[in-house]
Amino acid sequence: MLKVGILGGGQLGRMLLQAAANYPVETFVMENEPDCPAAHLCHHFIKGDIRDYEDVFNFGKGLDAITIEIESVNEDALEALETAGVKVYPRPSALRIIKNKIRQKQFYAEQDVPSPGFVITRSLQELAQHADFLPAVHKIGAGGYDGRGVQVISSIEDIPKGFDAPAVLEKKISIHKEIAQIVAVDEQGHAALYPQVDMVFNPELNLLDYQISPAELKDAVLWRAEAIALKVVKALQSPGIFAVELFVDKEGEVYVNETAPRVHNSGHHTIEGNYSSQFDMLWRIILQYPLGNTAAILPAAIVNILGEEGYSGKAKYEGLPEVLEMENVFVHIYGKRETRPGRKMGHVTIVSADRQDLLHKQNRIRRLLKVVSEGD
Ligand code: ADP
Repeated sequence: MLKVGILGGGQLGRMLLQAAANYPVETFVMENEPDCPAAHLCHHFIKGDIRDYEDVFNFGKGLDAITIEIESVNEDALEALETAGVKVYPRPSALRIIKNKIRQKQFYAEQDVPSPGFVITRSLQELAQHADFLPAVHKIGAGGYDGRGVQVISSIEDIPKGFDAPAVLEKKISIHKEIAQIVAVDEQGHAALYPQVDMVFNPELNLLDYQISPAELKDAVLWRAEAIALKVVKALQSPGIFAVELFVDKEGEVYVNETAPRVHNSGHHTIEGNYSSQFDMLWRIILQYPLGNTAAILPAAIVNILGEEGYSGKAKYEGLPEVLEMENVFVHIYGKRETRPGRKMGHVTIVSADRQDLLHKQNRIRRLLKVVSEGD
C-alpha cells in the first residue's frame, strides 16, 4: 500500500482523508496542532511545523508521495524530497511560482496569460511613486492568506494602507463576476476540467459567502475561462489539482486572479455535486489511477459556516436540526474545537436541478445556522 503524506491538517486535509478512506492508501498528516480537523482521520499523525525544513524533510523521507493542503510549506524540503524520489503534488517548481504573488504575476506575464496589469513595489515609498496607476489593488508578495495580504488603493490617500514590503500593485478590475475553474492534471499531463463556479464574497470579512456551480455566464466566456485555466496549468508542468480563480469584467473579458496548486474551497460542492470530487480526483492522480468524471450530477451551491461575530471559545452549533430537515442539503462540520468571529467552521452543500431552489435554500441556511460558543 502506498504511503502518502499531507502537509497541513485543516479542513481540506480532512476532506481529502474522507476520500482516501475509499482507496488502498496509508495516510500521514503533519501539522503543529494535534487537535486539528485532519488529525483524527489519518492513519498516522505527526506533530511538526510545515514551514520547517527538517520537520518537512523527516516527515516526507519514508513516504511514497506527499501533497499539501496549504501553500505556506517549506518548499526547499519538498524539493529535496523530490530529488530523493518522493513524488510531490504539486511539483515544488510549480509551488515556487505560485507561492509568491510577485513571481506568480511575472509567470502570467511571461506565459501571455491575461491577468490584471501590475507593477512591483518594494516599499511604501515606491508605492507612492505609482499614483498614476491608481485605482489599484496592493498584494503582498509572500505571506498573505484569505484576503489578509490584499489592500485596495483607490487614491493617494490610501497609500499608507499599502504594504511596506515587496508586493504587486495590480490594476483594479471592474469585476462583474469572480469564478473558479478547477482543473485536474495527471502524471501524463492529461487534464480534466470541472464546471466553473460562481463565487460570491462577503465584502466585510473578505471571505467566500456562498458559491454556485455551474457559473451563469455566456458559453463564450466560459470557454475562454477554460482555455485560460488550461494554459495556466499546462505551463505549470505539474500533476495535481489546480484551482484557477478568474475575474470576468462587464465586457466579458476574463483575467486570472490567482491559482491555488491544491484542492480548494471553491471545489467543496464537488463532493456531492459531481461524479468524481476534487478530493477523489487527487487520490486518483497520486495513486496513478485514471482520472474521474468531472461532470455535475446536479447543480450545487455551498454556504460557508463562519464563526458568529461576538463569540469566541468552545464551538456550539445552532440550527442544525432545522437545516438537516431541508431536502438535498449536506452538512460538513470541520471539527474545530474553538470558534472565533469569521473562522471557517464548516460548510453546507445544497444540490438541486433548480437554481432558484439553490439560492433560496442558501439564504435560509445562512439565517438558520449559527456557530456560537458554549456558555453563552
Ligand atoms: P487572497 O489570496 O487573499 O484571496 P486575492 O488576490 O484573491 O486575495 O484578492 C481578494 C479579493 O480582492 C478578490 O477576491 C477580489 O474580490 C479583490 N481583488 C483582488 N484583485 C483585484 C483586482 N485586480 N481588481 C479588483 N478586485 C480585486
